[in-house]
Amino acid sequence: MRMQASRASKVWALGFSSLLMASSASAVTAPSEADSSLSGIAASKIGIRTLRTEERESLTESLNSLAAGGQAAVKLDGRSGAPRLISGAPLMFTSSLTDATEDDYIRVARRYVEEHASELGFSPSDMKLNANATLLANDVQFVSFKILRNGIEIQDANVDFRFKNGALVQVANKSYSEAKVAAGADDHLDLQGVVEKALTPKSVAMTRELYRVVPEGRGYKLVRVAEFNTLTQNNKLYVVEVDAATGEMFEVRPTEFNFDGVAKGEVYERTYYKQKAVTLPYRDLYISFDGGGISTDGDGKFTGLPNKAEPAVKGFQGKLVNVEPSSGELVNVDGDKAGNSWTLEFKRSSNEDTSADKAMAQSMTFYHLNKEIQHAKRWINAKWLNKQLTANVNIEESCNAYWDGSTVNLFSAGNGCANTALIADVFYHEWGHGLHANTSGIDDRAYSEGFSDACALLLTRNNLVGPGFRLSNGAPVRDLKTMKVYPKDSNTEVHQEGLIIAGAYWDLFVELKAQHGEDKAVEVLSNFVLKSIFTTHSYTDVYDALLTIDSKSGKSNDKSENFCSINKSFSRHGLAKLDKTCDAT
Ligand SMILES: [Zn+2]
Repeated sequence: MRMQASRASKVWALGFSSLLMASSASAVTAPSEADSSLSGIAASKIGIRTLRTEERESLTESLNSLAAGGQAAVKLDGRSGAPRLISGAPLMFTSSLTDATEDDYIRVARRYVEEHASELGFSPSDMKLNANATLLANDVQFVSFKILRNGIEIQDANVDFRFKNGALVQVANKSYSEAKVAAGADDHLDLQGVVEKALTPKSVAMTRELYRVVPEGRGYKLVRVAEFNTLTQNNKLYVVEVDAATGEMFEVRPTEFNFDGVAKGEVYERTYYKQKAVTLPYRDLYISFDGGGISTDGDGKFTGLPNKAEPAVKGFQGKLVNVEPSSGELVNVDGDKAGNSWTLEFKRSSNEDTSADKAMAQSMTFYHLNKEIQHAKRWINAKWLNKQLTANVNIEESCNAYWDGSTVNLFSAGNGCANTALIADVFYHEWGHGLHANTSGIDDRAYSEGFSDACALLLTRNNLVGPGFRLSNGAPVRDLKTMKVYPKDSNTEVHQEGLIIAGAYWDLFVELKAQHGEDKAVEVLSNFVLKSIFTTHSYTDVYDALLTIDSKSGKSNDKSENFCSINKSFSRHGLAKLDKTCDAT
């Protein structure tokens, strides 16, 4: 027996609807990532509408009829006044079940509805079992039904029957049987055409029709919608619902849930030589997946990965650094998933010779160039620091590295030398040439060598440049303690001449460290080295520039904060006149 006629008049026309508060019953969750295919659709239509009702206790005993012969505690919908939660102990005296099957509980549930169809506003024929929601435990037993109207399912409409020790004690009635179907579903509308016009998708297929419950006035209405699986030009799948009465877009719902992850891997903190590999996160690294890509943040983390995507690192490419191996295999890392989170972890092969490892060379270069860029960004904002820098690694030559005017180039192991990408000092230095070329410009080659050694010093905090470069004894490329003085040692080989300024910076670092401690010394020296490269064209210009950078007052006669540290260090290398107020030790 259908109870359509009684809907809207029988139960909720009980005279207290005027006491009811309107409640907000709909929330839209927007997708985390914008899809340009949706640009023509109102933002309010994109996302997932969630229907939540607010309920209030009944003020009347007139609903006791919902408990057969007993008292029912009833909560009413705060908007429509329909009975939402009916509790009683029990609701049906005749229905205490023992050793019952699922069918027995279903039968009781249907009978309850049949006996109270006029109050509930629907009948057993409107119920469709949701078998997945059945729980038959020792203490409680639950059965649940989806609710149909005119044979079509209503989204969000469920009725749940809760039994305690076999007795029906609670009915949660979200049937929305009080809602009327919005007028005028028009079968002549071309609903698929609406989707095609709005999204210009790659493919679209209608899956079903259903009703959506929409809050309206003091109640709800049912909107009949047609649902389409829609694949956009960006390869994203949406469920698109179109109002069958008006042909308007009802909801564009992403099918993808987003996953998080982290990318990390083994690197040496400085060099393969006498150091153990450690695992550290890769910042600003591209993670690729079928049909898309995503980047890690400053902590190596990423969010917003589509649910079916299988992320992978296909070579070390990122926003700021692109590592191109000339030989050896491009590093590929597949993800491991645990829960909602992916981990992409590069691990060094234990079979590789540590001084020649071509995979580790890629990891090292990517990690440390990013580290150097971030370090520099703390003091300077050169445009070059925001451009992607290419580093060619595993070049099939040996015992060198170079800056070619636009890229960093690092050689493979051989002829008694390690792979130069396994020693961060080496490409810290080559990067320094890149910064020099992209700030004041490299007019003075010896200055560029000395400046680049100083760039390595800022990160290594060490006088040696490139420990482990020579395989036989681990000898570095240079030692900043090598005493070189201007003008005596000028006009020699450029790297040797560069030690005049690099040595002055090293001495300054030692002075600052004694004064401020190592961390502060690195801060002060970074400020000097990185800022002065914008405004100096020869290493003999640096001293005066540093006094300006170090000055608090800006008055050139005032001694700057670190005046004596700078003066002593630079005078030792012939780059300044020793000031008599500074101790010359
Ligand atoms: Zn160089």
